[in-house]
Amino acid sequence: SPTPLTLLGTGAMGSALARAWLAAGHPVTVWNRTATRAQPLLAEGATLAATAAEAVAANQLVVACLLDDASVGDALADADLAGRDLVNLTTGTPGQARDRAAWAQKRGARFLDGGIMATPPMIGQAGVGGYVFYSGSRDLFEEHRDTLAVPTGTTYVGADPGFAALHDVALLSAMSGMFAGISHAFALIRREDIAPKEFAPLLAGWLAAMAPAVHLTAEHLHSGDYTRGVVSNLAMMVAGNTTLLRTAQEQGVSTELLTPYMDLMQRRLAARHSEEDGTGIIDLLLREPGSL
Ligand code: NDP
Repeated sequence: SPTPLTLLGTGAMGSALARAWLAAGHPVTVWNRTATRAQPLLAEGATLAATAAEAVAANQLVVACLLDDASVGDALADADLAGRDLVNLTTGTPGQARDRAAWAQKRGARFLDGGIMATPPMIGQAGVGGYVFYSGSRDLFEEHRDTLAVPTGTTYVGADPGFAALHDVALLSAMSGMFAGISHAFALIRREDIAPKEFAPLLAGWLAAMAPAVHLTAEHLHSGDYTRGVVSNLAMMVAGNTTLLRTAQEQGVSTELLTPYMDLMQRRLAARHSEEDGTGIIDLLLREPGSL
């Protein structure tokens, strides 16, 4: 029979998770700091706990989906975690996840951290491509794998509790750069007689066509040879940047989203790496951990 579980936090994401588990027949005990926000779930079969400690006492499997790492510490301050399996789906940094893992283990719990690569509407929907990165206790993951797979896909990325957050943030950071490029592209056409709705599919198609370039980057990092299989070299791209900057100027668009990346390309080229593509920029970005 479906494993009973406790869910701490019934915000947008927590509520979506709770609904998916309830729909699959799992008994779910919920707690939310603002109890009224958990109310709609009770009609769907959830049990409301008055305190987080009471919710934790109700089930071995405890899932937290709160705003940030500090709210996890707040919510669980008085809870007895001994013998519990704590799954933290709250977004945080790798360092926060590692500290939270040590904190949970000290209190007698097994710990699994998760990074959710999905939006609430994607939860409980098969075939939409969402999933959760998991890292930390492999035993916990294996034992509860079927339950964890109910709301969305699961991808276990290692015993280091920080790895789920690291994968999550790495993908979100790449997305940030992609959205920066998208903003610039729309700005370029904004004042022209070009319909955004006709431009959008061209843009989406181009981004999709370029995305597999990540595999060549991985090849380079793996082999240490950043020149192998390069089709668009740095010398050509830096020359091309002049056209990108000049077009921005002609169109009356700020270059502030483009220039930080172009400056790095320029620096790598100046260090005599003209036959590479962009892989060497990764080396320029590396600093001592903890410094900015
Ligand atoms: P919401 O803002 O909808 O919910 C936040 C939840 O955290 C609420 O239950 C809130 O309780 C609770 N909370 C905030 N501060 C505290 C505190 N100090 N003590 C106890 N509880 C607290 O956010 P989401 O549900 O959307 O997000 C939850 C997590 O899921 C976040 O870490 C988010 O990054 C992650 N996530 C969200 C995605 C999304 O698209 N929504 C996508 C991927 C990950 P109260 O109701 O009392 O305020």
